[in-house]
Amino acid sequence: MGEPIGRVVVIEDERPVRDAVLAALRAERFAATGFEDLPRPADVLGVAPDLAILDVLLPSGSGFALARSLREQHELPIIFLTARDAVADRVAGLELGADDYLVKPFALEELVARLEALLRRPGQLLGRSLALANLVFDTESRQAFIDDKPQTLSAREGAVLELLMRRKGRVVSKKLVEDQIFGLSGEVASNAVEVYVHRLRKQLAEHGAKVEIHTVRGVGYIMAEEKLA
Ligand code: CA
Repeated sequence: MGEPIGRVVVIEDERPVRDAVLAALRAERFAATGFEDLPRPADVLGVAPDLAILDVLLPSGSGFALARSLREQHELPIIFLTARDAVADRVAGLELGADDYLVKPFALEELVARLEALLRRPGQLLGRSLALANLVFDTESRQAFIDDKPQTLSAREGAVLELLMRRKGRVVSKKLVEDQIFGLSGEVASNAVEVYVHRLRKQLAEHGAKVEIHTVRGVGYIMAEEKLA
């Protein structure tokens, strides 16, 4: 089986489209979660997505509004899906920034290609090797290296490290870390994330990794290259 290569949420009310997109993503080894109508932002962010595929017209409202509230909490690349009408022009006129859009009907191969292109941009690294300063994490072997020396990490320490490295330079909420490493079971000791982050910091410092995990009080963590005083 192996770890998914990325997590994607698909928010689309047309069931055949949603099911086809989910199947195509899973075939490419993405973990994919579908929603059929405007979900709460917390439900989307709860699966710690690397990218969202978002239909613009949903039964209870606009995908743009959802995109804005997601962005307030977490920088997330989005591929908008639009019908072939004025909406397409509105999307095209947006400051797309980290985003992209596709006009329906679209080919699944095209969607997957766009998604992989977005995830390969700097800071959205898709691929087996994540690097920050002298620290490298191989997402297939689940092995971390500092100056090419293999490190001993538990599976959960590795999962926390991967999450922070995939989002290096960006805030990762404590809730995301919790969901990612413990799933959605809800049976998590309140200080569990702190414990894993503490262990990681210790290991990284002891083995000379030139990186830092900063605490953003009340929010979460951010991983960055060590700044020399
Ligand atoms: Ca729709």
